[in-house]
Amino acid sequence: MKKVLVLEDESSIRGFIVINLERAGYEVVEAESGEEALEKLAANPDTRAVLLDIMLPGIDGIEVCRRIRLSDPHIGIIMLSARSQEMDKVTGLMSGADDYMTKPFSPAELTARVDALLRRMGDGAAAAEPKPEELVQPPFRLNQTNRTLEKNGERVKLTQVEYAIVKLFMENKGKALSREEILDTVWGHGYFGEPKIVDVNVRRLRIKLEDEAQDPKYILTVWGYGYKWNVE
Ligand code: CA
Repeated sequence: MKKVLVLEDESSIRGFIVINLERAGYEVVEAESGEEALEKLAANPDTRAVLLDIMLPGIDGIEVCRRIRLSDPHIGIIMLSARSQEMDKVTGLMSGADDYMTKPFSPAELTARVDALLRRMGDGAAAAEPKPEELVQPPFRLNQTNRTLEKNGERVKLTQVEYAIVKLFMENKGKALSREEILDTVWGHGYFGEPKIVDVNVRRLRIKLEDEAQDPKYILTVWGYGYKWNVE
């Protein structure tokens, strides 16, 4: 069964999330503080994804996200925040989260987001399709079996979302991709989020992939449209 950890200090909201994820077939581990979440995560290494509330007593969700990412680049992370904390979105995603949900949300949106996150992580039919093992576009080498990326022979640590974006770029070398196209392919059709999340992930990718993030030469901006992967 797919295990998901839910960190939320408000018991009514936590109960709502837990019940709906369990109905959707997930095994859920609950935590009401950041400290408890980190302990339970260590005790449950088979956890596939975590939902992290941002505003918490003790260490906040952003710090929990940062600490999880230090040791685990692959686990799926969705940040949860109240509508009034719009500013947290970029901070949350820059600290390594894969997705972001604003409270309140419906049971349908909740399970759609978690399902989509796990699908992106290589679950389901897509993972079984035959595919060339490696995409080599110097200085980059993408290994689709291990889901890893190297630049000049050095491993670049990517989250699952970042990996999916780079893969899409490399499969569409030199072609301008719209934000919506990237959103549809990477996050899945029926995703409830907004195209801005693409920009935040590209910002993060530029820091990891470009020689100079401020002067990108691999991930070019196509103004008013999207992005283009530019390699020889
Ligand atoms: Ca809270």
